[in-house]
Amino acid sequence: MLIVKKFGGTSVADKERMLHVAGICAEEYKKGNDVVVVLSAMGKQTDVLLTQAEEINPNAPKREIDMLLTTGEQISVALMAMALESMGVPAISFHAFQAGIYTSKVYGNARIQRIDTARMEEALSDRKVVIVAGFQGINEAGDYTTLGRGGSDTTAVALAAVLKADVCEIYTDVDGVYTADPRMVPSAVKLKEISYEEMLELASLGAGVLHNRSVEMAKRFGVELVVKSSFENLEGTRVCDNTGKKSALFQLEDGAIRAAQSLEGTTMEEMLVSGVTADKNTARIQLTGIKETTKEIYHIFQRLSEQHIGADSVLMSPSRDKTTDISFTVPRDRLSETVEVLNRYSKESFSPIEIIAEDNIAKVSAVGAGMMSNTAIAVNMFEALHEASIDTHMIYASELRITVLVDEKDTLKAVRAVHERLIEKRMK
Ligand code: ADP
Ligand code: ASP
Ligand code: MG
Repeated sequence: MLIVKKFGGTSVADKERMLHVAGICAEEYKKGNDVVVVLSAMGKQTDVLLTQAEEINPNAPKREIDMLLTTGEQISVALMAMALESMGVPAISFHAFQAGIYTSKVYGNARIQRIDTARMEEALSDRKVVIVAGFQGINEAGDYTTLGRGGSDTTAVALAAVLKADVCEIYTDVDGVYTADPRMVPSAVKLKEISYEEMLELASLGAGVLHNRSVEMAKRFGVELVVKSSFENLEGTRVCDNTGKKSALFQLEDGAIRAAQSLEGTTMEEMLVSGVTADKNTARIQLTGIKETTKEIYHIFQRLSEQHIGADSVLMSPSRDKTTDISFTVPRDRLSETVEVLNRYSKESFSPIEIIAEDNIAKVSAVGAGMMSNTAIAVNMFEALHEASIDTHMIYASELRITVLVDEKDTLKAVRAVHERLIEKRMK
């Protein structure tokens, strides 16, 4: 078997953790399996490097930021190779160039375009454990790029796809994917499995446990993905194609597996909520006074997309004066760029557009296949929010999720209330 194992920052934070992880990899290798290990930078090293950059130059060139950040992962892989060698396991570390990971040119948010597997395959056929620096790539200029925060997951899935690995295991500091971030909702329950689609929604809507692009890629290439703990040897959560799913399977603390009960007024088959998540990296944009609706909206989204700014939860509504209003969310850390793009556009647009930006809000979403077809979910969600006296500013629903915007200060309260109503109640 060929197994890709990825370990996040906390899992390789210090010498003890490194040696523990090396032990997990050595054990796999000794079973006769081929092992590819993808590592993140140790502990909070990426944040430390970003702070150093900020202190030297708050407007540092993005190329230099990537040059700096990629050092974090390189320390991890070299130390891991040394750790494995100390255990008598032959190992070799690769940075992006050596692993042949080529990306688009955008610094800070590059996309993997192709992987030249020759060196990795040669090392595997020499029976070496291959250890690859996550989060990084090389662009056409021959410079280092990074894949966006949390991007080591995507490196791991990409390697699993091109090397046709049997499984890609994402080891982290929680023992699987839970119905909500267990740090926010202590009563959250571990999922035994979750579909790619639902995991992609959760990851895109704030559940930091997996990089959303890793899930997208796993789905596209059919990579079997497992999220598990690097601290304890527990089963974890399988992210897979389970479109025929009739109910969410929860793993209870005693190890028993239980299917969720149906919500009142719904049948088991129709719909089950897999998780609740929040994203504070959210800002809302409202544009009013759009005259030539389709044409202008096309131009607006084209400008945003040129800057790689992803708009989410887009809503459009006609206004009394025959113009159109649209609202959407963007990542808060891209808000000033978004406003700049829109201001520039507004000056040359067909009609004066008023731009309102809000950044003291957060997105709270319930995710599960079949949302639209089940009105009871929305009713229950709003009842829970109402009972918790939480104001909602915008609602967006799709087949896979219901998202509401709430005041940032209400985030935790909202997640807990929705989780309690849509998930905990069904487990009883
Ligand atoms: P790593 O460094 O291993 O990549 P991350 O911090 O990126 O780890 O991801 C793990 C964290 O994701 C957990 O510590 C947990 O707080 C958070 N998290 C958010 N949502 C969820 C969820 N639904 N299930 C499990 N963990 C979650
Ligand atoms: N070290 C990078 C980060 O902190 C990548 C990763 O951990 O996946 O974002
Ligand atoms: Mg991560």
